Order: sequence, then C-alpha cells, then structure tokens
Amino acid sequence: MVLIAEPNLVASVTPTALSPPKPSLAGLSRGALRAALAAIGVPERRLRMRAGQLWSWIYVRGVTDFESMTDVSKELRASLSANYTLGRPEIVTEQVSVDGTRKWLLRLTPQASDAKAPEIETVYIPEADRGTLCISSQVGCTLNCTFCHTGTQRLVRNLTAQEIVGQILLARDRIGDWVLPKAGKEHGAASPEDGAFLPGSERKITNIVLMGMGEPLYNFENVKEAIEVAADGEGLSVSKRRITLSTSGIVPEIGRWGAEAATMLAISLHATNDGLRDQLVPINRKYPIAALLEACRTYPGLSNAKRITFEYVMLKGVNDSLAEARALVRLLAGIPAKINLIPFNPWPGAPYECSDWEQIERFADVVNKAGYASPVRTPRGRDIQAACGQLKSASVRMKASERAGLATAAPAEGSGS
Ligand code: SAH
Ligand code: SF4
Repeated sequence: MVLIAEPNLVASVTPTALSPPKPSLAGLSRGALRAALAAIGVPERRLRMRAGQLWSWIYVRGVTDFESMTDVSKELRASLSANYTLGRPEIVTEQVSVDGTRKWLLRLTPQASDAKAPEIETVYIPEADRGTLCISSQVGCTLNCTFCHTGTQRLVRNLTAQEIVGQILLARDRIGDWVLPKAGKEHGAASPEDGAFLPGSERKITNIVLMGMGEPLYNFENVKEAIEVAADGEGLSVSKRRITLSTSGIVPEIGRWGAEAATMLAISLHATNDGLRDQLVPINRKYPIAALLEACRTYPGLSNAKRITFEYVMLKGVNDSLAEARALVRLLAGIPAKINLIPFNPWPGAPYECSDWEQIERFADVVNKAGYASPVRTPRGRDIQAACGQLKSASVRMKASERAGLATAAPAEGSGS
C-alpha cells in the first residue's frame, strides 16, 4: 500500500456555517447547468449557447477555474466565479495498490439531512488495454448481502447525480485523462512518466462500472442522470456499451433501466437456488431467481452482442460445488450471457472464505465447457481493500493497523498468482 495523499484535516475543521460553500457546477446535467446560469441572470435566449460552452470546458477539457474559459465574456466569468465553483469531491485519501489499482476515499459536501460529511469510495483498475472506473451510487447500502462489506455500513443515502459524475471527474483529474494532453498535469495527476501504471489505450478511463458502494437501481433517477452526462458525445463520451450497471436484482427496475438508460447489465446472482440465494442476497426473498431471470430474458436490447454478465462470488463450501456449476449453466440456458466468477474478497469479520483455487478452476471448467468464456476475475487492489465488496467508508472504517495486516495477508489467497 502506498499512501500518496494524507487526509485533508484542514478542510474538515474549517467552519462553514457563516459562509456556506459556493455550489459547484462540475457534474451537473445540461438541464441543471442551464438552470444555474439562469439563476445568475443569463438571458433565456443565451442559455443553450452558454451552457454548451461551459459543457465543453467542464467535460472535454476538465478545467477547474472559470478564468480558463476564454470564449466566455469577462463579465460572465466574474459572475460565475462569484457564485459558483468547479469543485470536485474532496479527496480524503488516495491509495495505490502494488498492481496499479487506485482507490480514493472521497468526502462529499454535506446536505441539510447529513449529520456529517458522507464519505464514499471510487476505484480505478488499469489493465493493459483498458481502464475501468468503479463508481459508487449510494453512501453504504440498504441491502445486507452477507458476503459484502458495504452492506454492513450504517450510514446510507443516495448520491446526487452530481456526486456520481464528480467521481468520474475526480478520477480523470488524478489520472490525467482529459482530452488536452497537458490538462492532467494542471491537476497534479500521476502520469506514466512518474512511474504510474496506466493502460496503453488512448483514453485511460475506457469503461465505467456501477459496482462500488450501493444498489444503483435504488437510486434510479440520479444514476440515470449521471449516466447521461457520462455518455454525452460532446462531453465525457464514455459509450453506453462500456458502462455496466450491476444490480443485486431489483426486478421491477431492470426492464425500465434497459429501456430508459440502455447500458450493459450485470446481475449479482451468486446462487442457483432460492434457499441459498435468500441467505446470500436477502432481496431474493422479495424477487426470487425465476422472476429475476425473466427480467433478464426480456432486458431491452439483449442480444449475443450485448450479453448480460452474471456475477458469481466463489464462497468455499457454500456455493462452489460442481453440481452448482452445472445448475448455473442450466439456469442461464437461452439467455445471452457472460459469467464472471469472482473469488470472494475477505474483509475483517466476514463469515465466509474464498473457495480454493483448484475448486474455482474446476468450477470454471464446467462453465467453459458449456460454452461460456468465463475468465475468473483476478482480484485487484486487495492490498488496499479496493476489491469488490470490500468498500466501506465513514464511521466504521478500519484502523490503519488492521488494514496493514490485511495488506500482507490477502494477495496470496485465492488469487492464483
Ligand atoms: N449493489 C450492486 C453493485 C455493487 S456490488 C450489486 O450487488 O450488484 C458489486 C459486485 O461485488 C456485486 O456482484 C457483489 O455481489 C460483489 N461483491 C460484494 N461483496 C463481495 C466480496 N466480498 N467479494 C467478492 N465480490 C463481492
Ligand atoms: Fe448492497 Fe451490492 Fe453489497 Fe448487496 S452486494 S450489500 S446489494 S452493495
């Protein structure tokens, strides 16, 4: 674990009660941006044009000050600076794993209902030819999947669309992934010259997965608004084919998501019968497997080119028998699917162990022979607790000493490397 940014203690003790912080425009949708411009007196007939200008500065170039906006009049720039910022979520810590995975603990601006500033986590996973950003949709999660660390977190609220997009902006800043080559440097971002591990692709964030903290379909509208910003071809330009929403199976929202947002879909299946899934993913009691798979079969746009990913976490002695591998294949017959076998990522106090590597390989063999290319997802960033299901922030965060213990113990287990 390499800690390259210390908690910003100054910001957390600065009183803000007397002068409420200026709101940020970074992360807003087109509609919200137009409303913010109207609020400072930009005339109706200019709103579309002005919002378009700001859009490109914010989402193509990633600027963080209004002064850089050279095609915006001086008066408007002054008015924008007087009323707004282009701030991102505040970085509490930035950790870089030995495998190049980065995890940010981010502090959000508190809302009126927040007792204190909520914290969330965002993870960046570089590979040779792609870079995946794993973003959060809620602070914590109201569901209590028994193998997931996030589910044990008490503090829960939905993220705003702006807070969801803010994670992408922040990551682009830190990775130096803005279209203008020098923009990253202005943000003080890590770059390959500094020895940071980044993919060889032109863009460093090529894929976005909603697999961080929270159940995205319980925050439908905000997640949808954020995805529209992320996918906007005149802005962040991450194609919807490269955005994946992962859900524990909120059946009534699945079809609606496909129709309205049309991203790729991943389903956290993890069991092949209702008895076991009821235990592992308790929302199954409300939306059992048959109903879930029916929603998948009718997912809008589903085809061999646009398959659903089924996630299956490998829990030793719980769901990893070869009979279950065969049941999994039978269950998914007829659905254009990919299967992701995820080695269980342990966390302190977790009631499960990761399946033995040999067993994962035998399980994968059955799945592969049935025609699914199902690469076992190598756990990434385990040493910094950045892997699936390890995310947890705020009140019950681990002590640094506990984290250090895990950093030395975890990578060998179940990773096969
Ligand atoms: N709430 C959504 C998205 C976030 S969880 C969902 O459940 O799909 C992202 C993925 O990580 C899910 O497939 C989840 O089941 C998996 N996961 C959770 N805890 C895990 C753990 N400890 N080890 C491995 N995968 C885990
Ligand atoms: Fe929530 Fe997903 Fe974790 Fe379940 S696995 S508790 S739905 S974040």
